[in-house]
Amino acid sequence: MIIVFKNGTSQEDIKNMQERLESYGFQTYLPVGTEKVVMGAIGDETALRDKPLSAFPGVEKVVPIAKPYKLVSRDFKKDDTIIDIKGIKMGGGNVAVMAGPCSVENRDMLMYIAERAAKAGAKILRGGAFKPRTSPYAFQGLGEEGLKYLREAADANGMLVITELMDPRDMDLICEYTDIIQLGARNMQNFRLLRDLGTVKTPVMLKRGLCATLKEFLMAAEYVASGGNGNIIMCERGIRTFETETRNTLDLSAVPVLQSLTHLPVVADPSHGTGRRDCILPMSQASVAAGADGIMVEVHNCPEDAMSDGDQSILPNDFDILMDRLDIIANAIGKTLNR
Ligand code: PEP
Ligand code: MN
Repeated sequence: MIIVFKNGTSQEDIKNMQERLESYGFQTYLPVGTEKVVMGAIGDETALRDKPLSAFPGVEKVVPIAKPYKLVSRDFKKDDTIIDIKGIKMGGGNVAVMAGPCSVENRDMLMYIAERAAKAGAKILRGGAFKPRTSPYAFQGLGEEGLKYLREAADANGMLVITELMDPRDMDLICEYTDIIQLGARNMQNFRLLRDLGTVKTPVMLKRGLCATLKEFLMAAEYVASGGNGNIIMCERGIRTFETETRNTLDLSAVPVLQSLTHLPVVADPSHGTGRRDCILPMSQASVAAGADGIMVEVHNCPEDAMSDGDQSILPNDFDILMDRLDIIANAIGKTLNR
């Protein structure tokens, strides 16, 4: 439930309420950046049957949240969450672009791609150092060496790093190098990983599971938020359908639907969402036009030789065009492309 306090309620009254709820076995949360002072309380509401919380000093109203996800819901926090990482903003009216190769293959290719992506205006460098591959014989990533190259390439170009965490044992290592932790589609319901992500301060981008409903996706985010990490970005990356012309079906209606249900930033990944280079430009444009708070796109200097996902990677020259188009579309709908 949410407890809404009257304007001007004293800190002491808020603290009293917090202590009282905690004594009833509730966990309490105070979101930052909302107009009103509100408190989220999660626990067994039957314990409150004969305890009229609305009679407490300062309380304006007590609102139950019927949805299974609470902290990430719009009911809990009306305003968009804006995640600010070293001055680069995600959410609100900002459109952020994450670009880079599927996998970090070597230092030279990454330095080149990062430089080109940054020149086109991208502020976030993506690249996998630990890769979730369908085949155990396929390239699995460079591990820590790849993380080092990511940090070096990002720092050289004033960019942030986003990279995937697959194993809780790599958490400290990944946090040392990255600005955003990516949780891959295949791990969206790895509850141990989700719990661990709740305990760190590094922002997290959750990718939608291949067969996950939006409710399941939001419940994954709730795991992270309930652990104490509210800096979560939701990424629509395509789902499995009967269609075989594309690798996945990019569910763009998920963007406005998620934005109506959650205050968290929602981005789209047309690379994994379609698996086809010829779809990246139109579907990136469509994502931003649909209101996405950003996109993730795979860029490679030589897609035909890429060690993973070459089919869905665009060339740096095409990325230049993409950024110019996104700038126009973002402006047309009153948003700003981070550039
Ligand atoms: C990726 O971003 O390279 C990736 C593996 O994505 P997903 O988890 O969406 O398949
Ligand atoms: Mn990939």
